[in-house]
Amino acid sequence: MYDAGSGGVPLNEAHTFGLSVRTQALLLPKDESEVPDAASQATYIIGEGSNILPLGDLPPVLSTRYLRGYQVLRADGPEVEVAAGENWDAWVRFCIAQGWHGLENLAAIPGSVGAAAVQNIGAYGVELAPFLLYVYGWNKRIEAWQRIPAEACKLGYRHSVFQAPEWRDQFVITRVAFRLSRRFAPVLSYPDVARRVHPQRQHDPWHLYETVRAIRTEKLPARGSAGSFFKNPVLSASQLEALLQRVPEVPYYPAGEGYFKVPAAWLIDKAGLKGYQIGDAQVHPRQPLVLVNRGAATPEDLWALARYVQETVQERWGIPLEPEVRVLPALSSQASHS
Ligand SMILES: Cc1cc2nc3c(=O)[nH]c(=O)nc-3n(C[C@H](O)[C@H](O)[C@H](O)COP(=O)(O)OP(=O)(O)OC[C@H]3O[C@@H](n4cnc5c(N)ncnc54)[C@H](O)[C@@H]3O)c2cc1C
Repeated sequence: MYDAGSGGVPLNEAHTFGLSVRTQALLLPKDESEVPDAASQATYIIGEGSNILPLGDLPPVLSTRYLRGYQVLRADGPEVEVAAGENWDAWVRFCIAQGWHGLENLAAIPGSVGAAAVQNIGAYGVELAPFLLYVYGWNKRIEAWQRIPAEACKLGYRHSVFQAPEWRDQFVITRVAFRLSRRFAPVLSYPDVARRVHPQRQHDPWHLYETVRAIRTEKLPARGSAGSFFKNPVLSASQLEALLQRVPEVPYYPAGEGYFKVPAAWLIDKAGLKGYQIGDAQVHPRQPLVLVNRGAATPEDLWALARYVQETVQERWGIPLEPEVRVLPALSSQASHS
């Protein structure tokens, strides 16, 4: 645990936006036995901070980044339990080295294993959900360890039950269990990936991993943003119909029975916001779904920019944009943003 006294602890390095903010205390349990006490002192729970926007100095924060270790539960399958603080990308590489497959397209997504389950991370046609067996952790509301089976985690598009108010910051995930496959079945449904995978190496999982990593690195640096700031809006058939009447050229694709996803990047781009800047916060000039700190952005710059993008898209297209990034209200304004 780390508590710098009344001045607080800098969080600049503990989140990818790199904002100059502090927390009253940074609680860093090294094993599960330290979690209940740390949880009782913490207001927020984070992992590696790659999907959070702190709106200023924060109350005490617990990070699970130092909870480490793997345990094979069943060799056939295989089924493996992974500590929440393991780095996601290291876990993906470990799997490939063991001959365990399924996660290759999720290469190089920043962050920890615990948060990956909270966010149901996804990329290039694959998401975490089908590989999840259960999540284990400390429920500070009822003061008990709980094992939550995959069905009860209610994973959806960048969503899980752990984002609901009764779970958020109440349940510290300490382990995530996965069921993987010993058979490699490459997913090449994304044109970017299909184009770059060499036909003669299609059955090499490392080649797929390296291809995805290379595409990602070209698109976005690991620091200075939190990846996609907004979720792609999901519309019902009638909502889509109404939008298409006004904007026939809007792209969309199926998202489960009777629902359709519209790319938020398109809505932001066509609203003329690419490269738009407030202070040192900017809508990425090539990836309009991403908001970036150009170096000296303040939390206020980023929050004002996020609000401006939401308002502009709402006005232009009549569609609300929901943040994918977790916005953490500051000490001074906790009541107003949650
Ligand atoms: C450059 C870049 C690219 C990205 N690309 C993608 C992408 O392609 N696909 C994608 O899905 N995401 C992407 N992201 C978002 C991010 O990588 C994921 O959301 C990741 O899972 C966050 O991990 P973290 O450990 O940093 O979580 P944090 O940002 O620390 O936390 C995220 C959320 O999880 C909660 N949480 C974290 N740990 C725990 C825990 N142990 N117990 C309970 N709750 C917890 C936090 O309260 C918060 O709500 C990207 C981010 C960046 C910076």
